Amino acid sequence: MSARVIVVVLGKQGAGKGTQCKRLAQHLGVPHVSTGDILRAAVRDRTTIGLEVASILEAGQLVNDDLVNRLVEERFNDADTAGGALLDGFPRTEAQAEALDQILGDDGVKICINLDVPNALVAERLSSRRVCQECGAIYRDSDIEAISGTCTNCGGDVVQRADDMPDAIHQRLEVYERDTAPLLAFYEARGLLVRIDGDQDPQTVTAEILDALAERGVA
Ligand code: ADP
Repeated sequence: MSARVIVVVLGKQGAGKGTQCKRLAQHLGVPHVSTGDILRAAVRDRTTIGLEVASILEAGQLVNDDLVNRLVEERFNDADTAGGALLDGFPRTEAQAEALDQILGDDGVKICINLDVPNALVAERLSSRRVCQECGAIYRDSDIEAISGTCTNCGGDVVQRADDMPDAIHQRLEVYERDTAPLLAFYEARGLLVRIDGDQDPQTVTAEILDALAERGVA
């Protein structure tokens, strides 16, 4: 079997990981695996895990590594990941990056894309972000879908995430610096890190990511 296309997409909250992964998933034909989406779905569906993590998500804290690692391991049992996956929001700590290596075995992470964005832009993007509770489509507060509250993709409710409120944004950026920023050095040391300027229009960012993947023979 040919090697799996395993792409880790890193970047601060609001850097554009979700938007880019949705676009790249279509280009590459591998699923977009977002631990944030998986956890939010669990909260929405009031599963045992959802009830356990709801207040953690709302406060912008990280869910414990073992739980998230288990969710990702289970996701990699699904047939649609046989060709690879775009990982968004995972790994988020060094312990998770090590767990990911274990889960994937020899056919591991091929490239890690970091979307660089300044903090001021992050705060602005997050506070104006609205999301569909059903399909995860992302809108801005000025979009008609956000104003009407109805997603044009699936008819789901378009809402502001509790963790996109100002206090939680501040908290999440602190958690990012403390726990997730060290992953840049982790992947750089393995020669897997590519930095892309996330402060450009989405099409340009996608094109630069696809170029980086092609240059490295990933896809
Ligand atoms: P963002 O990157 O904008 O914070 P995500 O959708 O990736 O949004 O994550 C939302 C929340 O889900 C996080 O603040 C955290 O509580 C939880 N979460 C998502 N991924 C992880 C992870 N890999 N480890 C721990 N918690 C996570």
